[in-house]
This record gives sequence, C-alpha cells and structure tokens, in this order.
Amino acid sequence: MTMSDPVADARRRIDAARRVVVLTGAGISTESGIPDFRGPKGVWTRNPAAEKLSNIHHYMANPEVRRLAWQGRVHHPAWTAVPNAGHRALVALEQRGRLHALITQNIDGLHQRAGNSPDKVIEVHGTVHDVVCMECGWRGPSGPVLDRVRAGEDDPPCDRCGGILKSATISFGQPLVPEVIDRAMRAAAQADVVLAIGTSLQVYPIAGAVPAAKAHGARLVIVNAQPTPFDDIADAVLRDPIGEALPAIVEGARGLGD
Ligand SMILES: [Zn+2]
Repeated sequence: MTMSDPVADARRRIDAARRVVVLTGAGISTESGIPDFRGPKGVWTRNPAAEKLSNIHHYMANPEVRRLAWQGRVHHPAWTAVPNAGHRALVALEQRGRLHALITQNIDGLHQRAGNSPDKVIEVHGTVHDVVCMECGWRGPSGPVLDRVRAGEDDPPCDRCGGILKSATISFGQPLVPEVIDRAMRAAAQADVVLAIGTSLQVYPIAGAVPAAKAHGARLVIVNAQPTPFDDIADAVLRDPIGEALPAIVEGARGLGD
C-alpha cells in the first residue's frame, strides 16, 4: 500500500490543467502581515465594535464612523505589505499560461502588486486602492483622498457632488456587484482545476463556485490551514503554509507547449 502525497497529487492536477481558476482568501494575505478580519482570531471576531466601521448603514449614518474608517484606511497594512512566495507562485502560474482567472476575496491588491495581470484578477469584495462616491458613483484612486485625510479632513466629500466617499470595498450590509460575481462564476464553470487557497470556503455566493465547478468536471485542490466544507470532494487537500505549498505545487507545472 502506498500513501498518496497531496503535494504530488496537486502538482499532477495542475500540470494536467489548461485552465486553472484560483480562489484566494485571507490566508494568503496573513502571510504578508495583513490581519484576517473574519477568521477565528480575526479583528472583527475579537472586537465586534470594529465591525461597525465596516457596516454600510453605520458608515452612511454616522460621521464619526466615517472619521474612524478613514483613519483605519490611512493606516491600512495593505500600503506597506509585500507579496509573499504564495503570491509569486500564482504569478508563475500565469506566466506558464495556466491561469484562467484569479478570484480573490482580498481587498489588498497584493496579487496585482506581485505581478498578476489586473485583467486576470476578479476582486469580489472590492479593493482599498479605489474610492467611490456613494451619491454620484464617481470612482477613482484612493491615494489623493487619503492625502486629504492626512491633511486634516475627517470625512472628505466627493469633489464632484459633495456626496459621501467610501473605500471601494464591499462592506457588511452592502450588496456584492452582480457583474463581478457573474464573471467569477462563469470563470469557475470553465475551470478544469479549481485551486482554493487560504479561504474557509464559507462565504457565499463565491464558495458556491467550488461545488459548481466540480459538478462541471473540474478537479479541486484546497490549500488551507483549517478544514473546509469541501475537503471531502477535493482531489487534494494541503494544510501546509501557503508560502511553502504553492511554490511546491506550481513548480511542477510545465508551460503549455513545453
Ligand atoms: Zn459624487
């Protein structure tokens, strides 16, 4: 009897794939020093008051919540975080022509900073790198708005209409963007391998892409420290640190045409 090696299994699956759809969650960013907000040791789990800052109703109703939220944005770890070996492995996957789409629940922009093409990255929970006007819909880079906060504006209004500005992230109580979710679901349905990384696979509707892809015949590889509800239907499950597991899985993936 031989024990199956999940790293070798995962590498073989990816090596055989033409369209890998990657789904990333907080676990890949925590290895770059960005705290997990929803996990068992998450910021919101330990301090429910902090969750108020990310609730759209409190944000729209209360200038003090907006002041605190902007202060949190100015000091967000995303501005100084550096992509890790896990992020870089996903860049290598794209360079080898295997990456069909990179769906992420993270808002830190680290996949793009690592070098993945922006058009491959589908940010289902938005991004801290942009701001939007809740009144007129204007959207732009967050840098100039954060400069206004640093210069002393507690709650910088929209330059165009005076409306409330907000980080272009999906807050609690705020609907997901249907076009973005549709794009993610379509990509997952076209996958021949789904590689789920650092996500508990409990946040819907995106978690639903995993069994849907499996039903379409995709193979499923999960890299997550904790068990997920889909471990039983996975073809390989790895519990190793992401920064070690991903390079080990992707190194074996030859380029198309090699
Ligand atoms: Zn506006």
